[in-house]
Parts: sequence; structure tokens; C-alpha cells
Amino acid sequence: MSLIVQKFGGTSVGDVARIENVARRVVATRQAGHRVAVVVSAMAGETDSLVRLAHAAGGDEPDPREYDALVSTGEQKTIALLAMAIQRLGHPARSFTGAQIGMRTDAAHMRARIQSIDAARIHEVLGAGTVAVIAGFQGVDDEGNVTTLGRGGSDTSAVAVAAALNADVCEIYTDVDGVYTTDPNLVSAARRLSRISYDEMLEMASLGAKVLQIRSVKFAMQYGVPIHVRSSFSEDEGTWVVREEDAMEGLVVSGVTYNRSEAKIRLRGVKDQPGVAARLFGPLGEAGIVVDMIVQNVGQDGSTDITFTVPRGDTRRALAIAEQAGAEVGAAGVLADESIAKVSIVGLGMKDHAGVASRMFRVLASEGINIQLISTSEIKISVLIEEKYTELAVRALHAAFVESGAGQPRAEA
Ligand code: ADP
Ligand code: ASP
Ligand code: MG
Repeated sequence: MSLIVQKFGGTSVGDVARIENVARRVVATRQAGHRVAVVVSAMAGETDSLVRLAHAAGGDEPDPREYDALVSTGEQKTIALLAMAIQRLGHPARSFTGAQIGMRTDAAHMRARIQSIDAARIHEVLGAGTVAVIAGFQGVDDEGNVTTLGRGGSDTSAVAVAAALNADVCEIYTDVDGVYTTDPNLVSAARRLSRISYDEMLEMASLGAKVLQIRSVKFAMQYGVPIHVRSSFSEDEGTWVVREEDAMEGLVVSGVTYNRSEAKIRLRGVKDQPGVAARLFGPLGEAGIVVDMIVQNVGQDGSTDITFTVPRGDTRRALAIAEQAGAEVGAAGVLADESIAKVSIVGLGMKDHAGVASRMFRVLASEGINIQLISTSEIKISVLIEEKYTELAVRALHAAFVESGAGQPRAEA
């Protein structure tokens, strides 16, 4: 007998017929002799419409506590509906909100972090032979306020529950049948990976592959929870996210990702002297704005340019801070540009293959795509380009690195 956590995303619970389909799958797992805890998202489109309502009533920046109180209700509908559907099939099930299973988080509304879970409470329910149906995405802080974990947060709820219960596997059921070499909804030649390492998945998630929320992968890696990403509409095996030694598919580049939700801010002609970057990035950090890529040009005649990227939702606030800092350090101008995209290639094999970056730049050049910024780590290379070239860049890089010869780079001159 295994203990299995099954997470179903929005499309998988999009209407009552689909919830009944999920109920049948959960029941089949139970009938195979396993204990099952289920974590669910809100029904497809529900969180988006709650977010729109929050802005309609609360303006651009609705009160974070009330925002969480509202957007967490999507998951509450699904848990009750799924518990009913399982009961209707003749099996015991009970719904639980985050608060009801002691999903404690910090108080950072809209992007709270999980601190602990009352595993004993869930074990008790499962031990009694009941299916626990748990609301994803939501928790509760020390003061009893409802919190949410950021968009896509149900993945993290599921992996955290799996870690707390010491489950054998966390199955993530979604609308694609696994993790692909790139977004299968963008590139039809994308290929499903049978295995991927935590490190590669972490990079892919942080670089835009929204199939798993990044924090879910961090949790899984930290606690050694095997994740199995698969389709809720078929019985086929999907993709296992596992330790590096179990993951090798022998690819240099295992994935191509894109992110169209960042903006670029550029300060022109700032003084090339100590303290300028600190004056700018200090207040951005204090405002809770996560800065991604940063480039400072080589100074000329005592002045230089600083360019960085932030989430588009923070463009207005980041621009205001940059304008203020710019005025203090004598910047010649501050510009924001939202029509940019970050395209990245990811692969463990890059660690010991030279020439991957230069090949990437050649592929983009041959498509006439200009690179605005570059950033690298041991296992990824990211470039910032004009947004309108996103698809072209992703397809060209996928063709060059993945479709042709398992991502092996040609020998470099
Ligand atoms: P859910 O609602 O089940 O959580 P999401 O929409 O959050 O599902 O994530 C699944 C989507 O992730 C897919 O429909 C796909 O378009 C997208 N995606 C982006 N990159 C990848 C990738 N490399 N592999 C699989 N899916 C990807
Ligand atoms: N319902 C939330 C969202 O749409 C959480 C999730 O689905 O993972 O972001
Ligand atoms: Mg998701």
C-alpha cells in the first residue's frame, strides 16, 4: 500500500463532468489499495475572474488581505464538489480548507510561503479510510488570516502535503501529459521528457515553463519527493521529476522556455561611481520588487547605463522608484519597455559542453533577432529579445538544439 498525493489543476476540474472524471480516478487509486490525499485548484478560469473582480472593486492595488480572502474561494468550491462526487461513487471523502489542515504560512499575502502542515490531522483522516480533499493555493498565517501562495500555487500545496505526509509520490495531473522540451502549446515538435532532474525543472519553472510552480520543485528537491507530471485525461505515464543521477537522458539542452511577463527598465547616463547601484536596487528590494536580469554597461566619460527587468505587474512601481533614484544620481533618462520577452535554453549537459552559448547566438542572428541582454548560469542561458519574436526564437532554438541530434552541439571552430 502506498500513500499517494494527487493534484488536479484547473482544466482537470473545469466542470462537473471533469470533476466526476477526477473522482473516478481517485476512487480507482483507492480501490487499488492506496491511501489518497487529493489537492485541487480552482475550476478553469475561476481564479482569473476572481482577480478581475478584486481589481474592479479594489482598483490597481487591492488590499492584500482582502484579495487573498477573495481569490482563495475558487479552491473552496472545488474541494466540496469533488468530495461530493467521490461520495456519490460510494466512497468516503471529506473536504479541507488550508486552515482546516493547519497549512501555516508566513503573512506575505499573495505570495505566502508554507511553514508547516498538520500532517497528523491528514494521517488521521486517511487512516480512517477517507479520501482527504484539500484546497490548494491557500493557507493561514499566525493571526488566522487567509493567505495565498502566488499563481500556480496549488502545485506547491500538493508537494508540501506530500513532503509532510512522507508520501511515495506526488502526482501532478494537468492538461498536458508531462513536461515537454518546450511549451507543447507553442511548438508542435515539442517532445515529452520521460525524466527530468530537479535542477533542470527548477530552471525551466523559473524561466517560464508554467507546468510546475517553481516553489513546488524546490520543496520536492529539498524533501526528496518524486513528482510525476501526467495527464488527467489519459492513463499514460508522464514525466518523472527526480534526482540528477536518475534523470539522465543524455541531452545537452533539455528544454527551451520563454517568459513574456517581464518589463525592462533602463537608466541612461548615470554617474559611473560607487553607490549608484545600491541607491537603485535598495529601494526596489524594500518595495518587494523582484529584479531578474541586471546589466550595467562599461562606463564612458564618467557615466554608464543600468538596465534591469522586473515582473510586468510591478512596472509602474519600479519605474517610479527608478525615476526617483535616477534624479538623485543624475540619470539622463529613465525608460520602461514592456514589449520584451526572455527566451532561455536549459540543460545539465551544458556544464561540460563548450560552445552552447555561441551556437545559441548564431541561431538567433540567423533569424535576424537582436539580443538585448544575456544572463547565464551553469545549466542555462537566457536572452532578452523583442516580444514579437518570441515564437520564432523558441522554434528556432528548439529546432537547433532539441530536434537535431538530441541537443548535441556541433564541434566548435
Ligand atoms: P494546471 O492548471 O493544471 O496547473 P497550467 O496551465 O498551470 O496547468 O500548466 C500547464 C501548461 O503549462 C500547459 O498547458 C502548457 O501550455 C504549459 N507549459 C509551458 N511550458 C511547458 C513545458 N515545457 N512542458 C509542459 N507544459 C508546458
Ligand atoms: N488557482 C490558482 C491559480 O490559478 C492556483 C493554481 O491553480 O495552482 O493560480
Ligand atoms: Mg498550474
